[in-house]
Formats: sequence, structure tokens, C-alpha cells
Amino acid sequence: MFDLHVIGAGPTGSVAALAAARKGQKVLMSEEHLRAGEPMHCSGLFSKSGLESLKDFFDYRKLIRNDIYGAIIDFSGEQIEIKTKNPIAYVCDRAALDATVAANAEKEGVKVEYGKRITNNYAAQNIIGADGPFSQVATNFAFPKISQYVSTVQAYIKYKSETPKQVEVFLSNEKFPEFFAWIIPHDEELAEFGVGVALPNNVGKAWRTLLRMKGIDYASQVKGAVIPISVRKKTAKRIGKRNVLLVGDAAGQTKATTGGGVIIGSNCARFAGIHCNSPLRYELEWNLRFGLDLFTHRKVHDYLAGKSNVQLQSLGRKIKQMELDRFLSNNGHMDRPTKMIKPQIIPHLLRGF
Ligand SMILES: Cc1cc2nc3c(=O)[nH]c(=O)nc-3n(C[C@H](O)[C@H](O)[C@H](O)COP(=O)(O)OP(=O)(O)OC[C@H]3O[C@@H](n4cnc5c(N)ncnc54)[C@H](O)[C@@H]3O)c2cc1C
Repeated sequence: MFDLHVIGAGPTGSVAALAAARKGQKVLMSEEHLRAGEPMHCSGLFSKSGLESLKDFFDYRKLIRNDIYGAIIDFSGEQIEIKTKNPIAYVCDRAALDATVAANAEKEGVKVEYGKRITNNYAAQNIIGADGPFSQVATNFAFPKISQYVSTVQAYIKYKSETPKQVEVFLSNEKFPEFFAWIIPHDEELAEFGVGVALPNNVGKAWRTLLRMKGIDYASQVKGAVIPISVRKKTAKRIGKRNVLLVGDAAGQTKATTGGGVIIGSNCARFAGIHCNSPLRYELEWNLRFGLDLFTHRKVHDYLAGKSNVQLQSLGRKIKQMELDRFLSNNGHMDRPTKMIKPQIIPHLLRGF
């Protein structure tokens, strides 16, 4: 008999399972696919600090494909450059990351069963739903719905980037409604192209626009997926003797600005594993640590999503006038905007008046 049943062997499920096993829980983790990390829908871009925060669970150094020193952000024609002295992020092999964390969980006593889809056949009183954006666990236990999703398309394309160590980001609510397009260099010759649009906008049209912008006629192996960009109003509850917790995409613990969900989701998952028999403590703990950051991402997303292209351009100009690009180059934090509230920002804000 198991103490905890984790549904889904994505990064958040494996982290939750491993954290619980380290607390002495007998854990079963079920994954519907035949291995962890497949099929893959992720750019694999993670902040260095975020990867460091998860080093108890996996060694990211073996997974690095490219190191990233900032970004060129195009505000509908007005570009700002963020350039860091040291790598701020890494492009990693995401499939290998998932496989590594799941293998580490298995090594530390978690029983992992692959090729098993869980519908309602739960094997323990404590359940963690780490089953992705359309969580069956959340549906079965009547959790509040995720209110907004982004639809994405991505593909790897031969591309000689002028900035092979910087990510390119394109903001335009006419071309990429309420999200953005991106190019993430993997090396001198290859990059991941991607677009996201808030549903129900047409992601196919946005994808063709990005390819046209870069003079690319055709891309093979194009993949589509969705990202939740709002947190569920409740992510854990006790139902009779059952404790049911949601983590990662199942909970909507993603950054609404970028759709990135591995770092914060996995950090929340750590608390889910530790407090798998105390829904209240889990919900309190992750909200205390990351609630304000996720809220800030959401507010920034909503602010940008409401701007016309002309307004985005003037915002880009304002950022340059305030030298906020310089501030971000020196003090930027990809995951936790609350960490950027420091005295160094004051002179930049004063330049805005
Ligand atoms: C195009 C794209 C690019 C992205 N790029 C980044 C990025 O660069 N950086 C970043 O941090 N995030 C990125 N993300 C987001 C990131 O991929 C997710 O936030 C992350 O995968 C969430 O992890 P998870 O473990 O919660 O869910 P998932 O990774 O979705 O894992 C859920 C697992 O549960 C399994 N499962 C589902 N239902 C069942 C069931 N009923 N029974 C058994 N198993 C089940 C699935 O097979 C899957 O393995 C991107 C997403 C997309 C779509």
C-alpha cells in the first residue's frame, strides 16, 4: 500500500515524488507515456538561479545545450537589448531533464509505473495531480478551472542568429495576440522558433507571420501545445480522508509573461511532496514563497496584452529613456520579479518623470 500517488512524471511530479520519498513516504508515480520527457513541448530555457534552486533534485550541468546572456526584445519595432555579463539562463535538453529527475526519484525509492493512464483508480489516500494543463485529477475532484490558456506552435529551424547567445522576443498584439513570438538559439546554426497567442486567437496565423518575418518558407516537425497562464483559485483540498494537491501546470503555476513553468512549478512541487498530507500547509507555503511573483507576472502580462502596437513602441522608447534595459541587464530576474525591487531601481524610476 502506498502513502502517496503522484499522477504524471513531468518535472513537477518527479520533484514532488522525490521530496515525499525523502520524508519517508511510500510513493507511487504513474505516467501515461512509456518514458518521462516524451512527447516534448518545451523550449528548455531556464534561469541559472532557477536551475540552482532545484539542484537537490537533478544536476543541470549535464543538460546544457547553450548559455544565454540576455535578450533582444522587440516592442513592435522598438528594440531593447538586455545583455548580462554572465549567463543568466541556459537552454537545456528538456527531455533529458524530465528523464533525469524521474530516474533520481526511482533511485530514492519511488515506484514509477510507465504506460499507465490514471483516470480515477488512485492507489493512495494522498494524491498529487502533476498531470499537466488539462489535469484529470483537477476535474475529478472539482477544482476551480484555469481561466486562461495560451496556444503555442514551435519548431527547430536552421537559422544563423546574429545574437546566438541572446533570445529574440517579439511583442505585437496584432501579430501575436496577448503573448509573443520567440527565437531561442541552440547553437550557431539552429534555433527554436515559437509563437504563442491567448486562446481563442488563431495560432496558425501567428506562426505563418513569424516565419514570413524571418524569410522562412517552410518548417518541418511543427508541434502545437498549450500553456495555462492563470493559477487555479484553489490548488489543494481535503475530501473525506483524501488529501488532493495540484502542482505545476495542473495548478497553473506558470509565469503568465513567458509561459515558463518548470522552475516555479517544481519549487512548489517540493512543498507538495513535503506536505502531501496537509493541503492547507502546501497551499500556504507555495503562496507565501511564489504567490506574489506569479501575481506580478500575471499583472505584467495583462498590462502588455492591453497595448496597441503604437503603445508598445512608446513603452519600448520609455524603457530606453529610463535606462531600464541597463537595470535589467544588471539586476534582472527571470522567475521572481519581486527580487528586482531593490534600491538600484530608484534612479531609473525617477528618470520616468
Ligand atoms: C511551447 C512551449 C514552450 C515552453 N518552454 C518553456 C521553457 O522554456 N521553460 C519553462 O520553464 N517552461 C516552458 N514551458 C512550460 C513547461 O513545459 C511546463 O510548465 C512544464 O512542462 C510543467 O511541468 P508539469 O510537470 O507540471 O507538467 P507536464 O510536463 O505537462 O507533465 C505532466 C505529465 O503527466 C502525464 N499525464 C497527464 N495525464 C495523465 C494521467 N491521467 N495519467 C498518467 N499520466 C498523466 C503526462 O504524460 C506528462 O508526462 C513551455 C511550454 C510550451 C507549450
